[in-house]
Amino acid sequence: MNLAGVRYWVFDMDGTLTVAVHDFAAIRRALEIPESDDILHHLAALPAEVAAAKRAWLLEHERELAYAARPAAGARELLHVLRERDCRLGVLTRNAHELALLTLQAVGMGDCFRPEDILGRDEAPPKPHPGGLLQLASQWGVAPQEMVMVGDYRFDLECARAAGARGVLVNVPHNEWPELADLHVPDCHALRGLLSG
Ligand SMILES: [Mg+2]
Repeated sequence: MNLAGVRYWVFDMDGTLTVAVHDFAAIRRALEIPESDDILHHLAALPAEVAAAKRAWLLEHERELAYAARPAAGARELLHVLRERDCRLGVLTRNAHELALLTLQAVGMGDCFRPEDILGRDEAPPKPHPGGLLQLASQWGVAPQEMVMVGDYRFDLECARAAGARGVLVNVPHNEWPELADLHVPDCHALRGLLSG
């Protein structure tokens, strides 16, 4: 993959641009969500009133995490290099848009993205659904094939694959999804290193 030629980059946020802090098992316990269930899909299937209360709890919980966020290794430097190259940068997260803005501010990446290029769980169907990537492709007027999606989890790679974009896996020691990842690198430092080659 010729990364140096890629101009359209979409990043997952939690665990990709920031150090992962979500304790999903604890969230499931607090919200009485079965271990095997997807949290956002579970909430979407609940009666409106119950869902609203649980969503409010989740938002408050995630707000605290946002203030405490720390940047992932090399992420800020990578974003700055891409911006210097006039690349278009977006975020596609299962977090909420307002908390994504807050988190990115907290880790010094607030100026790297246009607000409309940060899609949260209320702006796009949650990954692995490709809707968010396709939405950014349409906003930017490019084909998904010209985009790279960078993430730390299977959902990010599945989203990229389903949209027709390329998927880059970072921040995990082993590539557990070789059939889905077009590239695996240890972290964003390493990814930045590949841009010059
Ligand atoms: Mg993630």
